[in-house]
Amino acid sequence: MSMRKPFICGNWKMYKTVAEAVAFVDGVRALVAGVDDVEIGIGAPATALKSLADAAKGTNILIGGENCHWEKEGAFTGEIAPGMLVEAGCSFVIIGHSERRQYFGETNESCNRKAKAAIANGLSVILCCGETLEEREAGRTSAVVIDHVKNGLAGFSAGEMKSIVIAYEPVWAIGTGKVATPEQAQEVHSVIRKLLAEMFGQAVADATRIQYGGSVKPENVKEIMAQPDVDGALVGGASLKPDSFAKLVNYGI
Ligand code: PEP
Repeated sequence: MSMRKPFICGNWKMYKTVAEAVAFVDGVRALVAGVDDVEIGIGAPATALKSLADAAKGTNILIGGENCHWEKEGAFTGEIAPGMLVEAGCSFVIIGHSERRQYFGETNESCNRKAKAAIANGLSVILCCGETLEEREAGRTSAVVIDHVKNGLAGFSAGEMKSIVIAYEPVWAIGTGKVATPEQAQEVHSVIRKLLAEMFGQAVADATRIQYGGSVKPENVKEIMAQPDVDGALVGGASLKPDSFAKLVNYGI
């Protein structure tokens, strides 16, 4: 059996007001209360984080930001420092989501700086990687994913890797309803784990969780989670409703 605790995490993107976020926790609390063999997280918009974290206190639900800056503070209008996420009650942050790379100019270098700063502030990091359809069709999937992970984790120590989760999210599968087949996911996850072994040694590679993301739903989560190198899911659309989210978390029963 794998030593890696599965991690099912919602990514709410730019959805939910404070009131809606708190109502979600009220709706989901009882449905996930007994779960202790799966780590549960929600990445949420910055405005909802503090209320969400307060509402989730005493539950098994972790709260995280969807982005952060690498500086502690400064003249960076619109940005949020890692320490501010911690103060709001976050335990993790999502870094390098493809929407941030695509629409907000995130690069491997900025992701690397953000991830380093997040870890220095005591946050865990979900570092996202994944190819576009064009890149997949050109046979460049492995090269792109290796580029994202290698450069995103440049300069990290084996010890710091305890705070890193990788999310493999093929861009063509995000929000499209086109889920990668379990075999496609497994193939890329094993490429990532091999890279982690080369970079940090086999023990780190064996201990690091790699989530799959891209149109995961209650109907397909089980077969994806059954793959040996899939250790969780990062879920957008299907994480927005308590019922659906609870089904994802309870995929094993
Ligand atoms: C995501 O936001 O990371 C994601 C995978 O979205 P969806 O589940 O909606 O495809």
